[in-house]
Amino acid sequence: MRGKGAKRLTALLARLPGVGEKTAQRYLYHLLAQPSAYAVELGDALRALHAQIRPCLRCGNYTDVDENAAESAPVCDICSDPRRSDKLLCVVARPTDVLAMERPGSLRGRYFVLGKLLSPLDGVGPEALPIGILRARIEEDGVEEIILATPPSVDGEATALFLRRELAATGVLVTRIASGVPHGGDLEFADAITLGRALDHRQKF
Ligand SMILES: [Zn+2]
Repeated sequence: MRGKGAKRLTALLARLPGVGEKTAQRYLYHLLAQPSAYAVELGDALRALHAQIRPCLRCGNYTDVDENAAESAPVCDICSDPRRSDKLLCVVARPTDVLAMERPGSLRGRYFVLGKLLSPLDGVGPEALPIGILRARIEEDGVEEIILATPPSVDGEATALFLRRELAATGVLVTRIASGVPHGGDLEFADAITLGRALDHRQKF
């Protein structure tokens, strides 16, 4: 298919992460093979996306907008959960990282989404990080421990080091998630940096 409609949709789909030109074409053919109601529903859901899901005002995670709520400012389920502790704040780079950190089900604190990582090569400097908002949050909530859960990448490490330095004066305990060998993984396939860190952060057994 080389028509305008087919080209437009495949180009749009190909911009999704992990979807190349070929997969986009497969999606297009799949959508055409389904009853048209499916494509219409998909289109409706996409059109309403930004109106129905917004960043949480407190943590930056995404949350559904409650259409029945009086105020339009949304706060997510985690921020409004009274069983969680304000004293423990987990700092992550992106909303998808909140999802990942929630998977073990053991973190009973709250989150703070940075939105970006320091990246000198891409021109992202310290002024781009919401450090003032983070400091205010620490003070308001009486946070006692900050868990730095930025990814174990060059940018993630640089951001963690920067935050540790910036937060030193607040007196809050700053911890960093450990990184090591993946569960079920083989040592021979682990890279040297990962193994080195696993060795550095070994624990009494
Ligand atoms: Zn929130």
